[in-house]
Amino acid sequence: DRGLMWFRRDLRAEDNAALHHALRQCRQVWCVFVFDTDILDPLLARGLEADRRVEFIRESLVDLDQRLRALGAAHGQAATGLIVRHARARDAIPAIAQALHVQAVFANHDDEPDAKARDAHVLGSLAHAGIMFHGFKDHVVFERREVLTQAGQPFGVFTPYRNAWLKALTPFYLQPYPIDRHAASLAPLPGPEGGEWNTPVPRLSDIDFAPTNLSQLPLPTGARGAQRLFEDFVERIDRYHETRDFPAVKGPSYLSVHLRFGTISIRQVASVAYQMHLQGLQGASTWLGELIWRDFYHQILANFPHVVERAFRPEYDAIRFEHGKHAQTLFDTWREGRTGYPLVDAAMAQINQTGYMHNRLRMVVASFLVKDLGLHWHWGERYFADHLIDYDLAANNGGWQWAASSGCDAQPWFRIFNPVTQSEKFDPQGKFIRRYLPALQALPDNAVHAPWQARELELLAAGVQLGATYPAPVVDHAQARERTLQRYAVVKSRA
Ligand code: FAD
Repeated sequence: DRGLMWFRRDLRAEDNAALHHALRQCRQVWCVFVFDTDILDPLLARGLEADRRVEFIRESLVDLDQRLRALGAAHGQAATGLIVRHARARDAIPAIAQALHVQAVFANHDDEPDAKARDAHVLGSLAHAGIMFHGFKDHVVFERREVLTQAGQPFGVFTPYRNAWLKALTPFYLQPYPIDRHAASLAPLPGPEGGEWNTPVPRLSDIDFAPTNLSQLPLPTGARGAQRLFEDFVERIDRYHETRDFPAVKGPSYLSVHLRFGTISIRQVASVAYQMHLQGLQGASTWLGELIWRDFYHQILANFPHVVERAFRPEYDAIRFEHGKHAQTLFDTWREGRTGYPLVDAAMAQINQTGYMHNRLRMVVASFLVKDLGLHWHWGERYFADHLIDYDLAANNGGWQWAASSGCDAQPWFRIFNPVTQSEKFDPQGKFIRRYLPALQALPDNAVHAPWQARELELLAAGVQLGATYPAPVVDHAQARERTLQRYAVVKSRA
């Protein structure tokens, strides 16, 4: 009759599967979030003490705590807030469950390998104490082995997966899990006025992190922030298919970080998109397709966990990428946005300054790292893992393996993006480039994509000195392309 709701990547009170079931099944439910030192300590060890994700989570917990208190108060319960701890989750959860004398812990599934190992450990400790552990699907519309081929196998190719996904969809899968009518089960924190349990959400400094520039970014946090972003996006969803590829335009939803941390429900956004898709709105159909990609990569990770370390297609592990000091120097130019290719450099400035990068640019810089610089996709994947605010193992790994051609349904290996053509096509007036690269501000449109091809006079007039105010290109694309074709030829002989 007493339950503990453990929040992880589902930082919202509304339409939350585990919370709904906890409140329905138990008469008293406490809510907890643990800043897990198993996740945070390695970040600190890598020098990431100013990490926008940690700040995003912290701000979103403040919102969640307020919402839980308001829900409890509406049902006559005082002090029903969120318990927040900074500890090793695998130890803290069983300890809190025992201290509160609960019979069951409720949580939503997380299929990342580390999370699965943590949950198995928690389940074991709880079982030892006679406490149940209930897990629920919440993060995706279809998970694990819910959508399979006719032969009963997980899909490795997107288009047939999307068709099967749409066919399997019934209203049931998008129904919200109501919380309001069950909120009377939110239990007051024990002791006088909650006592030691009733503490505010810790400040960043309490958990050894430093503030970031998050509050200056146009990114509202918490479930309330997510709703604002979503309302704003629905206004322009009908144009999504036309605007989504142009980084200078406000085309996409910018919801990825909210979907990552569950400050918005995938069922809520998918059901709005699905209704509009049924009405024939092209933009909504395209956007729904992106949400299906998200499910697709999650089921790839759940069913083919080897992708974390190795290529989805084993023959791609035979490719020899650049290594040693020269490789490191090339990598540094990429990471710091000094490759001399303006679109690549502007994109890297975007991730470094904001933690976000437009989808088209993720494809461009990933392709550039692998196929122009000849570096292993793991290098780029790890950089994104440390710097993207919306970093998600399944989507990031899928995206990198797509660009490296080693993944499921990936770009064929002999298709190599030309970074200049991409720039001319998707940032035709160089608006995005100029936003992030002030050094190129005064260059005319035709010269901004490849300054090394500009006329002397144009450079002079714009105050651009290659090698001084802006780098000369670090590789020649045509030559790099030839090297990549040779490098990848090994795949042909093994496929
Ligand atoms: P929108 O265009 O509004 O799309 C809506 C939602 O659909 C996104 O929020 C996201 O949840 C989902 N989505 C869109 N595209 C994809 C995709 N290709 N794969 C999976 N889900 C998708 N996305 C992440 O969420 N986390 C990552 O770590 C990540 N790493 C990537 C790395 C590479 C190399 C590439 C090519 C793509 C990566 N993506 C990742 C996918 C995509 O770039 C982002 O989801 C998108 O840019 C986020 O912006 P948005 O919310 O405005 O997207």
